[in-house]
Amino acid sequence: MSLQELKQKVYAANQELFRRGLILLNWGNVSAIDREKGIMVIKPANISFAAMTPDNMAVVDLCGKMLEGGKPSSDMPTHLELYKGFPDIGAIAHTHSLNATAFAQAGKNLEPFGTTHADCFFGNVPCARALTTEELRGEYEKNTAHVILERFTGHDYLATPAVLVANHGAYAWGESPERAVEVAVMLEAVAELAIKTLVLNPLTEPIEQPLLERHYYRKHKKQS
Ligand SMILES: [Zn+2]
Repeated sequence: MSLQELKQKVYAANQELFRRGLILLNWGNVSAIDREKGIMVIKPANISFAAMTPDNMAVVDLCGKMLEGGKPSSDMPTHLELYKGFPDIGAIAHTHSLNATAFAQAGKNLEPFGTTHADCFFGNVPCARALTTEELRGEYEKNTAHVILERFTGHDYLATPAVLVANHGAYAWGESPERAVEVAVMLEAVAELAIKTLVLNPLTEPIEQPLLERHYYRKHKKQS
């Protein structure tokens, strides 16, 4: 894929998240990586969605050096570190979408309460811990990625392509910008359902493993 096509896709994915109401004001961003070319394209900082064009998408190398387009979003180091830690993903969507962020603020894992959840996520969407004061005062954006990667130690990041970050928001990923946005949309929907479920019955238990597996593997090929 040419760089121009990748910029177009990242632009369209950012606009799609905004159009769907998952990005309020400017709180969120989508990026994509071209691992062969060694570049990442990400939403530019300080440009409104109305003024955004494919050409002002920020292009950086994998060390974060600006190559072309606008100034990259301040979350750029988080995206770069996640691409290093998750070598099989091609795009990341970050949102502060309200229901997913409510779980993040409560510091709670998003448990699978039904098959809607199981269609997309194999088990709970985990909540990564809050950053320590030292981590906050240090390389905050990089450290945000490090707590996510720490939370995924021993977990399959492709089977559960999203995370909540305590006190902050959500990250979702996939092989393409379109897929990362789709996962972010599903995450927000299942988070809203989970909150309503827990309001109606605070004692609701997560679904059983066989039902989770049945639904997850209907949509995803089983790895042997
Ligand atoms: Zn954020």
